[in-house]
Amino acid sequence: MSQFNLILLGPPGAGKGTQAERLTDDFNLPYIATGNILREAVSQETTLGKQAKAFMDAGELVPDDVISGVILEAVEGPDARDGFLLDGFPRTVAQAEALDAGLEQLDRRLTAAILIEVPDEEVMRRMSGRRVSVKTGRVYHVEFDPPKHEGRCDVDGSRLVQRDDDHPETVAHRLEVYHEKTTPLIGYYEDQGVLRRFDGTRSPTEVHDHIRATIATLRLEEEL
Ligand code: ADP
Ligand code: ADP
Repeated sequence: MSQFNLILLGPPGAGKGTQAERLTDDFNLPYIATGNILREAVSQETTLGKQAKAFMDAGELVPDDVISGVILEAVEGPDARDGFLLDGFPRTVAQAEALDAGLEQLDRRLTAAILIEVPDEEVMRRMSGRRVSVKTGRVYHVEFDPPKHEGRCDVDGSRLVQRDDDHPETVAHRLEVYHEKTTPLIGYYEDQGVLRRFDGTRSPTEVHDHIRATIATLRLEEEL
């Protein structure tokens, strides 16, 4: 079977996690989410977690050398042999280069960089209402994507909380960091011919339909 190596790009709050959950179901790909890996490390107080916490709380990026090794290990691991869906990595050109070099060593390359575009004002609106399950990590929005029972995850009834870094001042700073450090990746992947753009202001279902159709077409092309 051909491999399917995908990354999700977009500002905080673009809907990457929301879409990833649906796409991993559709295409049966392992989901590697840097934010989730880092938050788990922080809560377990591992070495990685201790290195990352202060940066995350401040809305800064964790240094490239701290994060790249962890993600490359996951990408090169047995679960990702047939492909992966990466969310939240790369976020800098140095990380993108590290990913390319890692894939090249395995004689693999990226299939597509899925860019979900949403303007800053919409990001601010979304983040203030984002709620996350403490156990499953599933993402909700109090207004746009509410759980069936207030404050409880649909999957297992676990408690929903607001992330520490989702307060407005931190979100504004994360957006600045996105524009400065991550948007250069749009040109980087455009040059490689793998960038696919999606309008993230549509409903979650519409965004999902568009991305799924594009991936299905890519898969057909790969198999030809
Ligand atoms: P969001 O889903 O809101 O875009 P994430 O959950 O992906 O945010 O990331 C949360 C935080 O974890 C970031 O603000 C940053 O501090 C850190 N982080 C996540 N991915 C990376 C990365 N690739 N490089 C550096 N820091 C990262
Ligand atoms: P990211 O992983 O890119 O940071 P999330 O998937 O966590 O983004 O979504 C951020 C917030 O916006 C969540 O509260 C989510 O429920 C909500 N959301 C996601 N996609 C949409 C959409 N298309 N329209 C409205 N709200 C959305």
